[in-house]
Amino acid sequence: MVVTTQVRVCRMGACSTRIPPILTRQGVCLAHYLDEVFTRISAVQERFRHGELPDGRTLNWLSQQGDFAVTLLSGDGPDFCEDRARLLELLFCLANLHESLRRPQSQ
Ligand SMILES: [Zn+2]
Repeated sequence: MVVTTQVRVCRMGACSTRIPPILTRQGVCLAHYLDEVFTRISAVQERFRHGELPDGRTLNWLSQQGDFAVTLLSGDGPDFCEDRARLLELLFCLANLHESLRRPQSQ
């Protein structure tokens, strides 16, 4: 495990929230990370509504976000308490999307 004692903060605009270790590579706090994830998911949903199926890379990315949310939710670090609701919302969103991808499009 890499030792980083230095506290890193979010690189988004005026935000200076501490970055959880799991997001060090992304360089943003959880709230901003989730903003981006939700934006991308709604873009996928929007394209799907117009008949465009997500490609393999997108599906892969979606399942990674699911794993990510589960990992964070199963951790008990105090950092994540306030973001739990949004993580649950993310899982719910992903579940809905998978459900609609499975269904025939005539619905
Ligand atoms: Zn931030």
